[in-house]
Parts: sequence; structure tokens; C-alpha cells
Amino acid sequence: MDSEILKIHEAYRQGSHTCAGLIAGRIGELEKSSHNSVNFLLKDMAMEMASAADDRIRSGTGLRALEGIPFGIKDVYMLQGINASGSSGILKNYKAPYTATAIRKLLDAGAIPLAKENCDCFGHGSSNENSYFGPVRNALDEDLVPGGSSGGSAVNVAKGFTTFSIGGDTGGSIRQPSGYNRVYGLKPTYGRISRYGLMAYASSTDCVGPISRSLEDIRLLLNIMSGKDARDQTTFEPAFIPGDIFSDDPNTRKIRIGYYRNFIESDNLDGKIRSDFIRLLNVLKDNGNEVEELEFFDDKLLVSAYYVLAMAETASNLARLDGSVYGERVAGESIRDQYALTRSENLTGETRKRIVGGNQVLAHGYAEDIYQKARSLRKMITGSFSRDFRRVGIILSPVTPNTPPPLGSSLKNPMVMYLSDAYTVGFSLGGLPTLSAPLGTGTGIQITAEKNGEESILKFAKYLKDIL
Ligand code: GLN
Repeated sequence: MDSEILKIHEAYRQGSHTCAGLIAGRIGELEKSSHNSVNFLLKDMAMEMASAADDRIRSGTGLRALEGIPFGIKDVYMLQGINASGSSGILKNYKAPYTATAIRKLLDAGAIPLAKENCDCFGHGSSNENSYFGPVRNALDEDLVPGGSSGGSAVNVAKGFTTFSIGGDTGGSIRQPSGYNRVYGLKPTYGRISRYGLMAYASSTDCVGPISRSLEDIRLLLNIMSGKDARDQTTFEPAFIPGDIFSDDPNTRKIRIGYYRNFIESDNLDGKIRSDFIRLLNVLKDNGNEVEELEFFDDKLLVSAYYVLAMAETASNLARLDGSVYGERVAGESIRDQYALTRSENLTGETRKRIVGGNQVLAHGYAEDIYQKARSLRKMITGSFSRDFRRVGIILSPVTPNTPPPLGSSLKNPMVMYLSDAYTVGFSLGGLPTLSAPLGTGTGIQITAEKNGEESILKFAKYLKDIL
């Protein structure tokens, strides 16, 4: 298989690299990079951990699963004693008092964090231009956006600065930037990985997930991070996904594949992405797979339902940022003035818009009409998935309707930015596992299975990679 983690381990074992040498090299590249993908570089911490890893490697006690592997952390996770800004001005000096469960598990396996990575402020965005630290630049073309909100994480992986990065996905924030930078990004089943220590955006769809250049590494990382956590009551204990799922299994070919006709016929879809997607379906048919056309909700309706719910949840979650307990405070003559000044001066325009919109849809007189309607739509979406997965094993879709836009253009036309989430948000509302793989179209392919179906997704992605 193509595991970069195992390749690095092989180099450590053979002595062709020391961990300190590898980590110093990666940090040097991050320091020189013009992509603006890093909010906080963890140089001293990483170098100290690298020399401890070298001692372990030399002592021959055996390598832990992620011993000496450099990784990046989207700046929405807690890492004790280290800045956790959410790419916001209000938390620019905030230091995490504890470590997120998923990050703790990676550290316990020996991984070395290099950076807190730039992202859209509190996950609000699809272009990584809504950041207190400035926009991130796409890994393949610096004049284009990297996608968002986990843009810095996807760029660091695509450039090879980190071996993997941990993003966060509420409505597409791992999958869309992975598509725009041509790497793998997995949004697991809701509840598979603990959200403890992830800054809450929309708690009912927030997911922790890995971004990597290797499918095998996605499997390894998923196994390490998954599991029940007493600190997140939505978590469950999934089955371990064994490595042999990638060995050639002809049964994989018998899986029924579905796709949404209305996604492919949508006016919002780029012509080249459409024709590449259709070509991919034909390759699958030519290889003896059954491909079935399915119906789903209109993409504008999906985006509307998602944004109503996400804005409502983020308005509630961010109410705590009023200058009394966390982050920057702008003093006023009264406590109300303090709240107003702190929040208007320290939150970005996009985040303020979402808080105002969220409070509006929850307000008396509006909630029944807007918020409750979005909730019923969500139930219908979930019902539609249950019906579809009785007919097919995998649903394929483009990751995004368009290729990455030039920097600056999404700010002028936010509707286009919201619509770039058209194909990702539905699966988030359903809590389904879904992978963005750099295959098939210019912004990749999205592979979705029913809840807890990560094993089928990974298997299918490997199969697709082999036949394309
Ligand atoms: N782009 C979507 C939004 O702005 C999704 C973001 C995310 O998944 N964090 O809400």
C-alpha cells in the first residue's frame, strides 16, 4: 500500500533519516512557505518531541503507531498550553487549558504536531478568506482559494509539509478543501470520533477527520482516533478496520453504486466536472458495476436547510464569546456595552452575519417558519438516505460544483461561496461517512456510505484508484 506513515517508519528503522532531521526539514519548509497555512508554528515543542522520538528509535523499544510522524492541527482544536484561536481575533491570544480527545490519541501514538493551521474563523466559510490571520493560498495555484474551512490543513498536506492534518467538517470543510488541493479527506460518521476539545460550530453535524495523501493512512488514523468518549455522549465504539481490506477483492466490484441525477443536471455544475463525472460512471459500468440513478433534494434547498441549522447552532455556541470569560474584552460603560463592543470589534463580518442570522431564525415569530422547517427538511433528507441505501451500497457525487475560484471573488459574491457546499452539506445533515478522493474530476470525487460504512468507502476508493 501507499502509506506515507509506514515509509517514514521504514526510513527511521533503517537510519536513513532521524526524526529530528525530518521534523526540522518540514518546519523549515513551513517557515519559507508563501501559502499562509499556519497560524502558530510549534517549533520548540516539535523539536523536543523529535529528539525524544530519536531516543526511542535508537533504544530499539519499537515504534508506536505514529512515532515521529509530523502532523498539523486545524486551529479549532485544543492542545494544552498552546494557542487555540479558531482563526478569530477574539481568541487570538487564548491558550487551550486541555487537549482534545482526538489529538490526545494521536499524541499518545507518537505523532508530532508542527502547527496550528489557518482556517475560516470558527469554521465559517468555504474559501479560507474569513480568517483573522488572512487568506490561505491554494497548494496548486497560489492565486486561487484553497477552499474552506480547513484550507490550511489541506494545503499543508498537499504541499507535503505535514504527513497528515486533522481538519474539522461541519458541512464540507474537510471534503471541499481536500477536493480543491487534490488530497484525501474523510468526514467520518457523526459520533465516530469524539468532538471533545473541538470548538463547536454546529454541534449536530461537527465531525473530526483526517486529511492525507494516502488512503492507507486515512485508515490508520481513523482507527486511532475513533471510539467512545465519556466526554462526548454522541460517540460510539466502531469496529476496527483491518489493513487487508485493501487487498484485491473481486466482491468489491459487485457493489451497487448510486448517483443523484439532479446533482448532475444542476445548472450550478461546471461542464467539465459534469463530463468527467459521467465518464467515471461509464468506467464503472464498463467494469461490470451496476450504476443506479437516484433522486435527491434540490441543491439550493439543501444549502438553505444546512445554513439555517448551522447558523442557529453557531449563534448559540458562540454566545459564550462576550468578553467575560474567554479571549479579548473591550470594556464598555455597562455589561451590555461590553458584550456589544467585544463582539462587534473582535468577530469577522462573516461570523457576525451568521450569529445575527442564527438568532433571527431562532427568534419568537420566526422559529416555527424557518428553523422548524429546516429541521423537518433534515428529517426528510435522513429518510431519503435510508431509502437510497436499501438500493445501493455507495453513493458517488462530485465534491464541489466548481473548481476553486480566484482569491477575492467569493467575498464579492457570497451566494456562490455558499453554493460551493451544495454537494457536501446533505451528507453532513444525514451524519453519514463520506470521503473526498482526488480521483475522477478536477476537484475529486465524493464517496458516501451509510452510517458506520467507512470500511466500504475505503475499499471502494482503493478499487476506483486501481481502475482509473
Ligand atoms: N462551508 C460551510 C460553512 O461555512 C462548511 C463549513 C464547515 O464544514 N466547517 O458552514
